[in-house]
Order: sequence, then C-alpha cells, then structure tokens
Amino acid sequence: MTFLDQLIANTIRPEIRADAPYHVPETSGFIKLDAMENPYPLPLHMRAELGRRLADAVLNRYPVPSYASLKHKICARMGVPKGYDVVLGNGSDECITMIMQTVATRDRRAVIMAPVPAFVMYARTAMVLGADFVGIPLKADLTLDKEAMLAAIAEHKPAVVFLAYPNNPTGNLFAEADVVDIIGALGDTGIAVVDEAYGPFARTSFMHRLPEFENLVVMRTVSKLGLAGIRLGYMSAAPQLLEQFEKVRPPYNVNVLTQVAAEFALDHIDVFNDQASLIIAERTRLAAALAALPGVTVFPSAANFLLLRVPDAIDACAKLEADKIMVKNVSRMHQMLANCIRVTVGTPEENAAFLDAFKASLISH
Ligand SMILES: *Cc1c(COP(=O)(O)O)cnc(C)c1O
Repeated sequence: MTFLDQLIANTIRPEIRADAPYHVPETSGFIKLDAMENPYPLPLHMRAELGRRLADAVLNRYPVPSYASLKHKICARMGVPKGYDVVLGNGSDECITMIMQTVATRDRRAVIMAPVPAFVMYARTAMVLGADFVGIPLKADLTLDKEAMLAAIAEHKPAVVFLAYPNNPTGNLFAEADVVDIIGALGDTGIAVVDEAYGPFARTSFMHRLPEFENLVVMRTVSKLGLAGIRLGYMSAAPQLLEQFEKVRPPYNVNVLTQVAAEFALDHIDVFNDQASLIIAERTRLAAALAALPGVTVFPSAANFLLLRVPDAIDACAKLEADKIMVKNVSRMHQMLANCIRVTVGTPEENAAFLDAFKASLISH
C-alpha cells in the first residue's frame, strides 16, 4: 500500500471510500433536457436591471445572516402562512442536509424514509451523514403505496419521511389524502418533509396547510422555476421546529449575489410564473405527441419533465446523444423504471427537435 492508500484507509469512512463521486455529464453544445432546468433565459431588460442591482451588492462584507429582507419577500410572495418564517439553504439540497443533521445522532443512527424511486439526494445525504435510509417502493403505476408506507413507519420509526410533491424522477403528484395520512401516522415521532421543488408546475401546495400539521416541513427551491444557477432553497415549518434547523445552518450559507438576485426575481415573480405556464402548456403538447408513438408509454406528470418507457432506453439515449440532445436514462435507478428515460420539457423548438430525433431513434431500433 502506498502512503496515501494507507492514510485514506485509516481515516476515511468505508461508505465514503466505496462511493463514486456524483457524476454530471458534460453537455456544452447540447439541447439540455436532462436536469429539469427552465429553458427560458431572463428577458433582456431584466438582465440589465439585475446587472445594476448586482453592481450595488456589498461584496467586501459578509452577508447579514438574518437575511431579513429576502426572507420577508419569500414569506410575502410565496404563500408562507402568517406567523411562519423560512430557513434558507444553498439550494434545497442544503435544506435536506440541515434537516438530516438535526436528527442523525452519534449513539442512534436515525432512519430516513422515502418512497422510491425518489430524489437521489435523500439516500445520498443520509449515507454521507451516517443515517439509515429506508426506501419504500411505489406501486407499479408509480402511485404511493400508502399501506406499505404506514407499515414501514410503524416498523422503522423514521425520524424523517421525505415526500417529493410532485415526485422526481416519476413526475406524478401523490394523492393529497395519502400524504395527509402519512403526516398523521408520523405524529410526534417523525417529521414529514413535503418537497415542493416542482410546485410551480403542479399548482398545488402544502404550504397553506402548515398550521394544521405541527410535524410538517414544506421545502421549496427556485431552481426549477428558472434560477438553478443561483442556488437558493427554503423551508418553512412550525416556528419551534424551524428554529432547530436554523441552528445547524451555516451562518453565511447564502451569498450576497444570490440574495440580490433572488430579491430581484421575487420582485418579478410573474415573469417566472408566466414561463412556468408556457412549460405546462408544452408539457401537455409533448406528452400527447409522445403518447401517440408506438411502443412508448408516457406517465402522468405534474412537473416540468416527462417520464417515458421506451423499447430500449440505452439505445434511445445513445441516439439522442449523437444528435446532441441530452436526456436522462433513469433505468438503473430502480427496477420499476426499466427502460425509462426522463425528459425535461424545453422550449417549443427544443421539444420539436427532441421529438424528431426520438421518432427517428424508434424507427431505426
Ligand atoms: C431538483 C430537486 C431538488 C434540489 O433542488 P436545488 O434547490 O437545486 O438543490 C430538491 N428536491 C427535488 C425533488 C428535486 O428534484
């Protein structure tokens, strides 16, 4: 063994050594339909105004860690109930980390639970923080298996259950009544996190129901709405619970450029909501066009992407890549996603290019 092999064996945890770094493919020059980004850039006049605001940002000082004006705008514009505050994260990925950091203990590994297939960061972050992840398979039609969830909650007593609403990578919205039953079953032994990353495309939310459920956390992000690059997520919950997450938040986790850009975006939230409306209309058109193709199954989506089952996912992705179109092959995420690909809804032009290339890939299959 070399010195470094020995050093790493002596110091780095086995589960980290065994893990592969999170891989993101190189996509420059591609039509990028792999990461649920909003395809629309900021309108030109808004870019100029944003530039002026960013020029005034105070870069030589640390951010003011209360983030009062940004939080105030989020609460006022994003439907946070009266008397409720938010905790900010560097993306909602960091909110996931903060929640898990508050429950994972040295003497008892906390159990984190989610229906699977789920957003990959739930299981990854649990692993990194030394918590146990329990995934409960969805039914074959990708709806929530409520009975299995309730049985698993009774058996494993999870500290946190994550429910993405709508779900990623499946795109569907779980039945609201099932989510309510799961929140109820957790009671005062577990925290329910409703992850509304795709809320702008579902037009439904648990945010206004926070006062009904004291063990509920509602988490959101501006990423899928059109600001993935600024890295800002937030979560709300009953004040006493929210305060616990605030304790583990790194004091300066949101940088001043993000703060300025986010306040600017919130002042123009209609622009982003209008873009979301265009994406929703395109989702309907694209889903109908895909559903008409032989051998292709389109699953229902309330998000800004579609999950498709195709005859041969590896073949389809390779042919799309050759045409410089990047989608995500999710086949290996879970056996129930065999031959499934996930396609972000793009602009009408991008979707037309995807549809043409995808049709050609089916014919030559
Ligand atoms: C994309 C996504 C997130 C992460 O969003 P960021 O704010 O960009 O970190 C969280 N949850 C789900 C379900 C997502 O798909």
